[in-house]
Amino acid sequence: MKETIYTIPINDAYDIKCGCPICTIEKKLETESLEYVMGAAMMEPDVRLETNRLGFCEKHFDKMLTMKNRLSLALMLQSYLTDLIEEGLPEKSLLMTKKKYENISKKLSEATQNCFVCDRVNEKLGQYIRNVVYLWQSDSQFQAKTREQEYFCPKHLALLLEAAKKGVSKSNYSKFCEDHFNTSRKKLLSLLEDVTKFCNSYNYMFRDVPLGDANVAVERTIDFLNGREEKK
Ligand SMILES: [Zn+2]
Ligand SMILES: [Zn+2]
Repeated sequence: MKETIYTIPINDAYDIKCGCPICTIEKKLETESLEYVMGAAMMEPDVRLETNRLGFCEKHFDKMLTMKNRLSLALMLQSYLTDLIEEGLPEKSLLMTKKKYENISKKLSEATQNCFVCDRVNEKLGQYIRNVVYLWQSDSQFQAKTREQEYFCPKHLALLLEAAKKGVSKSNYSKFCEDHFNTSRKKLLSLLEDVTKFCNSYNYMFRDVPLGDANVAVERTIDFLNGREEKK
């Protein structure tokens, strides 16, 4: 089946030219997925089966707690707990076998290590990444736009380079890497400069050098590495 090409949302994110464009796409997908699951979808039996099976991670439970529709969340939790007790942690019975305990262990691992929202976001993001690679490969204007980005965060740079192994022709692969590496390198160098300035501020030889923006270099670097919006 032919994959949908998300040209418009990708170009919208690349037109902002502030921060990592893939982070912009991922944030949008996360908001959409949270709204989806906290909306009517939570009442749909198919979705409920999936939320019971996968559960949610700490980050997304916390985000759902800040959203409206507390009843919807409570109903989902009621169903999740019932399912976990009935299937995951049944009353001890003489009929239990090693095989059954293994199944319970598998189910518990699945429900506590996965997340319905993360899975949905990752699946859609994978499709977006393949589309970005396709756009770069087929459109020289998009290549120019790529070089105008502020940076690509490490997580998304890794995903792009991995997808390019399949999606970009052999003759273009080095150019694809160059376009993305050069953009990210500028950002890494400026972070390194600020972190070094911050480290030097502990050395009396540099006591007269003003810190300026480098006073939040540690926070800014950690935000960058985690794909979070930077502190100013
Ligand atoms: Zn990113
Ligand atoms: Zn999650």
